[in-house]
Amino acid sequence: MARLSGARTDSELITVEQAGARAAALVAPVADALALPLGEADGRTLAEAVIAPFDLPLFSNSAVDGYAVRSADLSPGAETRLPILGRSAAGDTGGMLGRGAWRIFTGAPIPAGADTVVMQEDVTPNGGEVSLPPGLKRGANLRLAGEDIARGQVALPAGRRLRPQDLGLLAALGLDHVRVRRRPRVAVFSTGDELTEPGQPLALGAIYDANRAMLRALLARAGADVADLGILRDEPAELERHLREAAGACDLVVTSGGVSVGEADHVKDAVAACGALDLWRVAIKPGKPIAVGSVAGTPFIGLPGNPVAVFVGFMFIARPVLARLAGTAFEASVALPVTAGFRHRKKGGRREFLRVSIERRDDGVVIARKHPGEGAGSLASLAQSDGLVVLAEHVEQLEEGESVAFLPYGGLLD
Ligand code: AMP
Ligand code: MG
Repeated sequence: MARLSGARTDSELITVEQAGARAAALVAPVADALALPLGEADGRTLAEAVIAPFDLPLFSNSAVDGYAVRSADLSPGAETRLPILGRSAAGDTGGMLGRGAWRIFTGAPIPAGADTVVMQEDVTPNGGEVSLPPGLKRGANLRLAGEDIARGQVALPAGRRLRPQDLGLLAALGLDHVRVRRRPRVAVFSTGDELTEPGQPLALGAIYDANRAMLRALLARAGADVADLGILRDEPAELERHLREAAGACDLVVTSGGVSVGEADHVKDAVAACGALDLWRVAIKPGKPIAVGSVAGTPFIGLPGNPVAVFVGFMFIARPVLARLAGTAFEASVALPVTAGFRHRKKGGRREFLRVSIERRDDGVVIARKHPGEGAGSLASLAQSDGLVVLAEHVEQLEEGESVAFLPYGGLLD
């Protein structure tokens, strides 16, 4: 990897996608896998595809409460009267139907011979008989064996990040354990002489370390096992020593701060001294340069210091890396169209992310309101907004009332 090579021109800006993909290409998925009980598998990544061991549903059953019949016994143009020959509830073993109707409840196996279920709402019972209306569709209200997933089909692909509904499917297939990859171990540091641990007294000129609390939670939500390694001073030798140590015990090192062009920004040099460093100028706002590379053979991401730049850099550059480490495909969230409730000017050439709140007007139109705190240091703007409006690189002027692309935080934090 190229060493840091001083100032670059705007033509060397890389797109957000290029940065995410290039960073992800520097890492390999963690190889170890383990079997976990379903109760512990939410959010974990499947190490191998799950193949359905049997048809789902296993047997054809009723989708409603009603009467199972043979469609051949129904007169197409008139009411049909049939004797009730039997009864099955969910959990019963079924039966065999001749000319007649079979009282049946949701989930009960369809008696052999029956091919249609009539909803009880459409049926008039009368003693031991039922009257069925004309025009019933053959095959109605059945759940056929294997119609959900047939035996031998892929129920869930390798690399799937398990969601609650996936766990439901695995349970329906009778599985009580599932093979998942080990979580990537990610070391996180903050850097900066001004930083103080929350809960400690604050000296003059100092500030509390906000990035680490945010990054720990972001990393955990992205499926990482977080090693919180505290605050590092702006001191090259100390930085280097701690980076080396962390690298030995984890799959990825993430830092914030110290990658800009100030005299106290030593992270770049420390990384270059114990590994390799590239400093990418990404066409993104907020989010100054981002440092990517390796320390002692372990992948490294150096995020900027400003909290909003940390957040945005994490979303679009660190998340693809974490997805690849975890063995899953990174899928960029799909932005939703909303109506801008504000005007905005920007420079062309960079993708800009604005913090917005969302409200639905009485006429149903969904409006995005820009948070007044626009600075890259404004944590309140992140905490008081609902998501990000994305303005494409070529856009220079946005007018109120135009449609804009909105990314809810909920979708980004999954
Ligand atoms: P830097 O890139 O190190 O120059 O930091 C840019 C800005 O972000 C400065 O105002 C720093 O004080 C601030 N900053 C850096 N790290 C943190 C942190 N962990 N928590 C809150 N603010 C930070
Ligand atoms: Mg700093």
